[in-house]
Formats: sequence, C-alpha cells, structure tokens
Amino acid sequence: MSGEFMKDKRGLILGVANRRSIAWGIAQTLAQEGAQLAFAYQGDRLKEGVEELAKTLPAVSPLYSCDVSSDEEIQKLKESLEKDFGRLDFLVHSIAFARKEELAGRTVDTSRDGFRVALEISSYSLIALTKALEPLMEKEGASVVALTYLGSEKAVPHYNVMGLAKASLESSIRYLAVDLGRKNIRVNGISAGPVSTLAARGISGFQSMLDDHKRRAPLGRNVEIEEIANAALFLLSPLASGITGEILFVDCGYRHVVDIPQTP
Ligand code: NAP
Repeated sequence: MSGEFMKDKRGLILGVANRRSIAWGIAQTLAQEGAQLAFAYQGDRLKEGVEELAKTLPAVSPLYSCDVSSDEEIQKLKESLEKDFGRLDFLVHSIAFARKEELAGRTVDTSRDGFRVALEISSYSLIALTKALEPLMEKEGASVVALTYLGSEKAVPHYNVMGLAKASLESSIRYLAVDLGRKNIRVNGISAGPVSTLAARGISGFQSMLDDHKRRAPLGRNVEIEEIANAALFLLSPLASGITGEILFVDCGYRHVVDIPQTP
C-alpha cells in the first residue's frame, strides 16, 4: 500500500527495539502513507539502532529517550514533542515488559514485585503517556493505538502475568476512550497473533505458540507484521473516525477456534 492516508499527520511511536519490532513495521507503513514520525526508545542501549532505522524513513524523525516507568522522563518527552511537533495526531504504544522468570511456570507463583513491574510498564504507561500528551492531542483530535494479545482473556500457557497486564491495558483502553472521546481523541487496541520479536522470545515455549497458531488459525498461518501495521494505519487514520474503545484482532481468526480432538 502506498498513498497519502496520513499526509500532514504527526505522531509518536514507542516500542521500536530493532527491525523486527511490531512498532517498526507500523512506523514503516505510516511513513509510506505520508506521516511524520517521532520515536521514543528506552535508554542509550537502543539509541544507535533506532537512529539507524529512522534514517531509512523519507522524513526526518526526531528521537527521544524515554523510560515509561519514569514520570519525569514522560514529562520531558511531552516538552520535547511540544517544541518539535507542536501537536500530536497519533500515538502508538507498543511496549510491554515482564521479568523473564514470570513468563515461565505458573501464574500462581507471580511475585508481588513482578506483578507491579509488568503492570506498570505494560499497562499504566498507556495512562501516563496519554495524560501527559493530552494537551498536544486535544488541539486537533488524535488517535491512540496500543498493542495487546489474546492472553488477556484466555489463560495462555506461560503468558502468565503479562496476560493480567494486557487485561488491564484493554480495560484502560475502554476507560480512556470514554474520558477523551469529547476531545475527539480515540483510543483503540490491536490484539495481534504471535510474532517472533525480542519481547516474544522472552516467553517460555514461544515457538509452541507460533506452531499452534499456524495449525489452528482459520487462515492456516501466522500473522505478518505488515498486516498488524495495516490495521494500525486504519485505526490511526480518518478511515476509523467513528471507532473508539475497540480491540481489533489481527490473528488470522485464531481466537474463534475451539480445538476438540475428534475420535475417528
Ligand atoms: P519488542 O520489539 O521487543 O518491543 C517491545 C518494546 O517495549 C521494546 O522496544 C522495549 O524496549 C520496550 N520497553 C520495555 N520496557 C520499556 C520501558 N520501561 N520504557 C520504554 N520502553 C520499554 O517486541 P514486540 O513484540 O514488537 O512488542 C510490542 C508490543 O506488541 C508489546 O506490547 C507486545 O506485548 C505486543 N504484542 C506482541 C506480540 C508478539 O507475539 N510479538 C503479540 C501481541 C502483542 P527494550 O528492548 O529496551 O526493553
């Protein structure tokens, strides 16, 4: 796809770790459609890699360091964006984190601090970012999209505390949509099928998730990042102007299938 769906739109993308990140797939699609992008990455470790990727985009893209667990860093991000962009038309939240030991074994063994960290970074960060950036988004209205996963509503082996965090994220999406609708700020989620990324490989047995998805999904395959990016483009663009508080599944239909072994 190549057109001008996002011409004159300015947005912030959080969650590019490398070229395999879902956020990077979304960034490429939005850039192809004429969007001007800014990126926020977590700390210096990622700076060079994100810089290299951003250089491949047609427009110059400002980069900011922001650890979403810090209110001060979020506030600094808001001030930089205000200076560089003036307003914000969209926000992509593609961030999640849980300690590796929480993504194996049983959910009942989740530690208090592991719970806090997973929910703070993977869910509360959407609220904190939306609140800080509200003054920039209310100028002309805006669209917010966050990435989620089926583990929010089904008990997926080893997804554990991240499932709890995604349930909280999806609920936040609905509450934020209600709070911000009158300012024409829409808030939606994309529930993506499994994709082999850095974060995903931290889940114990992730390859089995990919294999099962391919076997059971009505479309008989795993989802491509471009398909997730196209859904993000839709939700962020004026094409979705009447949609808010929704979770859009991009999972090749996987969630609809109940797998009952048949006796011959
Ligand atoms: P990814 O490339 O590893 O991206 C995750 C991003 O979150 C990284 O850029 C990571 O930075 C960032 N992050 C973690 N803690 C942070 C913090 N404190 N402050 C700022 N950024 C932080 O993995 P991904 O699969 O594309 O994940 C993107 C989103 O898609 C996540 O919300 C994930 O849950 C969701 N999702 C993924 C799948 C899948 O199968 N891959 C399926 C459905 C939904 P660091 O590398 O520095 O930690």
